[in-house]
Amino acid sequence: MSQTELHQLSVAELAAQLRAKQVSSVEAAQHFLARAKQHQNLGAFVSINEDVTLAQAKAADALIAEGKGGKLAGVPIAHKDIFVTKDFPTTAASKMLEGYQSPFDATVVRKLADSGVVTLGKLNCDEFAMGGANENSAVAPVGFDSAQPVRNPWNTDRVPGGSSGGSAAAVAARLAPAVTGTDTGGSIRQPASFCGITGIKPTYGRASRYGMIAFASSLDQAGPMGRSAEDCALLLSEMCGPDLDRDSTSLDYPAEDFSAKLNDSIEGLRIGVPAEFFGEGLSADVRTAVDAALKEYEKLGAKLVPVALPRTELSVPVYYILAPAEASSNLSRFDGVKFGHRAAQYEDLNDMYKKTRAEGFGDEVKRRIMMGAYVLSEGYYDAYYLQAQKIRRMIADDFQAAFKDCDVIAGAAAPTTAWAIGAKADPVSNYLADIFTLPASLAGLPGLSLPAGFGEGGMPVGLQLIGNYFSEAKLLNAAHRFQQATDFHLRNPAGI
Ligand code: GLN
Repeated sequence: MSQTELHQLSVAELAAQLRAKQVSSVEAAQHFLARAKQHQNLGAFVSINEDVTLAQAKAADALIAEGKGGKLAGVPIAHKDIFVTKDFPTTAASKMLEGYQSPFDATVVRKLADSGVVTLGKLNCDEFAMGGANENSAVAPVGFDSAQPVRNPWNTDRVPGGSSGGSAAAVAARLAPAVTGTDTGGSIRQPASFCGITGIKPTYGRASRYGMIAFASSLDQAGPMGRSAEDCALLLSEMCGPDLDRDSTSLDYPAEDFSAKLNDSIEGLRIGVPAEFFGEGLSADVRTAVDAALKEYEKLGAKLVPVALPRTELSVPVYYILAPAEASSNLSRFDGVKFGHRAAQYEDLNDMYKKTRAEGFGDEVKRRIMMGAYVLSEGYYDAYYLQAQKIRRMIADDFQAAFKDCDVIAGAAAPTTAWAIGAKADPVSNYLADIFTLPASLAGLPGLSLPAGFGEGGMPVGLQLIGNYFSEAKLLNAAHRFQQATDFHLRNPAGI
């Protein structure tokens, strides 16, 4: 195997070659570490430690030599820097956690390590996963002295999406075969869409949140991002499963082999098409690509059925009340006492809190803490927080009504392709761009984005598939069948 082709292999292909000893884990790790350096202008990685990675790779090679090691033995991956890791620093892309070293691994990180993966490093993201363009990172990526926006490999003047922007850029540029991400309101699906890769957010509670730095606990979910549904299935099978002692919202529902049904026929699959996902606001180029993808599904035997998700528009105000409310509570732990940044000079305890938080948090994080504290405050709680909770339930009910008529729901993952870095300075325009990913998040449903074509400026378009609870295998099956018939997921950005 020529070294230049190693990064074009799928996770399954690479795992097979590792097991057959056609390539060693050390060689694979070295290859990807060299690529990360070569493409560090993208700002995808926030920490790399070659010694740690190569030691892990050596250990994987030793296990493989003994005929041991998990399913993914020796495969290098990278983690969003929102998962705590004992061998790499964890920052959540915030100054608040600069220099923080976790004494333990997040459950998802540990489970993947148990399956044999080797960690290449930690990936850039929006600060505390708040954002949709990865322009809110407050830490310097590898190779830089100061914070930089992550760049989209398809056009480095564009954003990669967010908050898992470093994760999506790394896969699109083939700096890692696959990666982890987290999705609170779209942070796996939207960057996957912007960077022309595949990503899935499982049913809320299927993957443990233990060791995932909390943003909005009732929404946060971990998931894999890779080139294809097949690769995502391999990782997801290792990431899911109960973690009842450590995560109070972990579901007592077993993981499954998500690769088992990938090839099932989708003849007769009923794809629900909500009019609300195709209205005003959806840009023409994205619509064209999504319509063509739906036609392709019809060719594969699926049937399109109209469904209604009448509260789609409300998902934006509902999410931007509930997520900040939870964030304001979760982020109260960053007070300069227990861990993280502490102001150097202060007068008394209150002053220490104030200065620490003023220095440690970026603008978007402060905005959310203020919004959250406001909607939870006496006198506003009923009008905002409680009302939003009620509508959240109705949004979930709307999905259940829709799933009476269909098996999966399809639409665009985002209303546009990736925009230019700096183009959306105003926070509300960023919030509005989340409209298609928020409904499934609020309902706790699994959602996937897969490459469905290209729009304006040759930028990737993602098709979102939403399924009912625990239908990850069905979503991956539908995505895989599409990927067997198309090659969007195999195309490389220029220069990659
Ligand atoms: N873009 C959304 C936000 O800013 C979603 C972020 C996420 O899923 N982590 O909150």
